[in-house]
Amino acid sequence: MKISIVIPVFNESAGIELLLRRLQDVTVGLSEHEWEIVFVDDGSADDTASAIMQHRRLFHGEMRVVEFSRNFGHQPALLAGLQQADSDVIFCIDADLQDPPELFGAMLEKYAEGFDVVYAVRKTRVESWPKRCAYKLFYRLMRWMTDVPVAVDAGDFGLVTRRVAQIMTGGADKDLFLRGLRGWSGFRQTGLEYERPGRAAGETKYSFSKLLKLAASGWLGFSSMPLRFATAMGILSVCLCAGYGTYVLAQKLWGEAPPPGWTSLTLIVLFIGGVQLLSIGILGEYIGRIYKQLQPRPLFIIKEIRQL
Ligand code: UDP
Ligand code: MG
Repeated sequence: MKISIVIPVFNESAGIELLLRRLQDVTVGLSEHEWEIVFVDDGSADDTASAIMQHRRLFHGEMRVVEFSRNFGHQPALLAGLQQADSDVIFCIDADLQDPPELFGAMLEKYAEGFDVVYAVRKTRVESWPKRCAYKLFYRLMRWMTDVPVAVDAGDFGLVTRRVAQIMTGGADKDLFLRGLRGWSGFRQTGLEYERPGRAAGETKYSFSKLLKLAASGWLGFSSMPLRFATAMGILSVCLCAGYGTYVLAQKLWGEAPPPGWTSLTLIVLFIGGVQLLSIGILGEYIGRIYKQLQPRPLFIIKEIRQL
C-alpha cells in the first residue's frame, strides 16, 4: 500500500534533519508499505528548502516539495498537501515532532480494523497553562456549539483514507478548519491518546492571532450559535430594560420624586450599547466570511512542485 505523509513547513530548517531521521526510523519498521513525504513549504523565509535538499537522503521513500509563493497559513498548506497526496492512506503531521510519527504503526492497525479516520487525542501538552486552558475551553465550546462531531483535543495530526481526504479537499470552504471537515465527513473515526511533547526545535509558528483565527473558523464555520447568542443577548437586554422601565414608571406615578438617575442611565446605555456592539460584531464575522467565500481567489498559490 502507498502511504503519504503530509507536512506543512514554515521556517522549520532547524528541525528538518531530526524529522527525517525519525520518519525514516518509523517507516523502516513499516517497510511493507511504500512511503512518500509531501512537504508543503508555506513561504518559508529561512533555509527550510535547502535543509530539505541537504537531508533528502536520510529518508528512503519518495519525496515531493510543494512550494507556495508566500505564506498562506497552516490550514491552506495542509489542504495543498492533501490535494497532492494521491495515496490510499494519508498521514498529516507537523514538522516540529510535536506529533510523534511513532504512532503511525498503531494508527495503521486501526485502519486495518476498518477505520477511515484515526486522529490523535492530546492527553497532556507541554504548553504554558493559559494556553492549555484556552485549548481545553476551545474544544469544549466547539463540541457544545455544533452538531458536527468534531473530536475534542484532537488536532490535524492523524490518518485519513483517500476518500476522506477527497471530501476534506473537495469542498469550497474559504475559511478552513480541516479537522472540522474531517469530523463532518462521517465514516468510522477513532482516536488514539498520546502525550503531546514540546517542539523538537525552533519556535511556534502559530502566533496568538493565528490561533484565534483558527478558533473562529471552527466556531463560526461549524455553528450558527454565535448568531443565536446575539439574539439571546438582545432578548435578555430587552427583558431587563422592560423590567427596569416598569419600575421607573411606577416610581414616577406612585412613588417619591425620581432621583437624579445618572447611575441607572449610564448602566442602561452601557448595557444596551455593549449588546449592540457585540451583536454587530458577530454579524460582521459572518458577513466577512460570506464576502470571503464569494471572492473567486484561490486559498494558496503554488510556485513550484519539486520531486526530490
Ligand atoms: N505552519 C505553516 N504555516 C504557518 C504556521 C505554521 O505551515 O503559517 C506549520 C509549521 O511549520 C508546523 C505546523 O504548521 O509544521 C504547526 O505549527 P506550530 O508547530 O508552529 O504550531 P503549534 O504546534 O505551536 O500550535
Ligand atoms: Mg507545534
